[in-house]
Amino acid sequence: MLFFSFILLLCTLPLLALCAEDYYKLLGVDRDASDRELRKAYRKLSKQYHPDKNPQATPSHPTLRRFLIPLRDNDTAQERFVAIAEAYEALIEPETRKIYDQYGHDGLTKHKQGRGPGHAHDPFDLFSRFFGGSGHFGHHSGERRGPNMEVRLAVPLREFYNGGETTFTIEKDHICEACEGSGSEDGQVDVCDVCGGRGMRIQKHMLAPGIFQQVQGTCDACGGKGKTVRHKCKVCGGARVVKEPESFTVHVERGMPKGARVSFENEADENPDWVAGDLVVQLVEKEPILGADGAEDEHITRTDGTFFRRKGKDLFWREVLSLREAWMGDWARNVTHLDGHVVRLGRPRGSVVQPGAVEVVEGQGMPIWQSDAEGDPLAFGNLVVEYVVVLPDMMDKAMEGDFWSTWEKWRAKVGVDLFQDSGRPVIVEANTHDEL
Ligand SMILES: [Zn+2]
Ligand SMILES: [Zn+2]
Repeated sequence: MLFFSFILLLCTLPLLALCAEDYYKLLGVDRDASDRELRKAYRKLSKQYHPDKNPQATPSHPTLRRFLIPLRDNDTAQERFVAIAEAYEALIEPETRKIYDQYGHDGLTKHKQGRGPGHAHDPFDLFSRFFGGSGHFGHHSGERRGPNMEVRLAVPLREFYNGGETTFTIEKDHICEACEGSGSEDGQVDVCDVCGGRGMRIQKHMLAPGIFQQVQGTCDACGGKGKTVRHKCKVCGGARVVKEPESFTVHVERGMPKGARVSFENEADENPDWVAGDLVVQLVEKEPILGADGAEDEHITRTDGTFFRRKGKDLFWREVLSLREAWMGDWARNVTHLDGHVVRLGRPRGSVVQPGAVEVVEGQGMPIWQSDAEGDPLAFGNLVVEYVVVLPDMMDKAMEGDFWSTWEKWRAKVGVDLFQDSGRPVIVEANTHDEL
């Protein structure tokens, strides 16, 4: 019995895989989704599951790893990519969408059969209509590639310390959806009759009577494209691309260096003539805002790194001590770190801190980037504390008197002659400075 149910299970497994997933679910849209929503969903998913972006082998480089999208079950990216194209093409066409809504997959299959041996849609062809190029991202196929796009993103020091995600929006060229990148309202694109589609033409300039110079230049009838459009697309005005905002989320890893670059593959300006280049995000450190915004949130104000300075894996901090503290000791400070934990600084009574003295607090610097790559606990740099001593510029009259007499009493007894201590030869008259 167990054997038979096992056989049954084996038989149903491929059936389950073959049974196509609901098109709406596949695209992650509602049943009443608009064309625009369908396009948006296709744009997003087809890019995610594009086989060229989901190689079988896992790249060893850690920064590449996060661009891989986990696949569900046994689905390969290729299968999913094809399924997404199929779903989109069925739903974007009002006729087939109606059939699908009423009769489901079976209805569509019958409809296709009814039309006779039709052309099978190439999912890469559909992809290229959305993203330009040939529908592939091959870096070695000799395909034309658009320029990379560079943006600088300012991230507060706190985020470099804690890690996190930052979302930003840029305006970039998208292939016009209305004309699918043709630039033509009716889809009609003609070969330029001035240059015959070459985009270049030879012009003759007369330098002197009877002397001509031949100059090859861009055809101005078609602007070098070799194609003309009679009825320009109203959305893009024939430009074939439109500027639209797009949001990206960049993952800031703990301890990432300033100026680190994060690449979003093929996310630069789109163009029907090429495969989009990469969008390269350079992370720079945001200047801290002192108590400006976030004033209502004390925690954030205190931990935004206003008083921390970063140098590689170390952090620098300046601590101010009063004369009494520097000289007599017996003081403590709680420094709130970038993640809110407290670093305690202090000296017992009798412990002197010289002005400008530097103390290194080990392990309280920046997290060292990718030091936990092998599963080790995160390693940290050091916190370098510089002490600044501030002398009081106003003193209570009575206090001044007290101090004065104390100095007088003790300098007579144990005053140290600094000049003698310096070891310089005694040439001039006795020095009058002393320590107390
Ligand atoms: Zn032309
Ligand atoms: Zn257009």
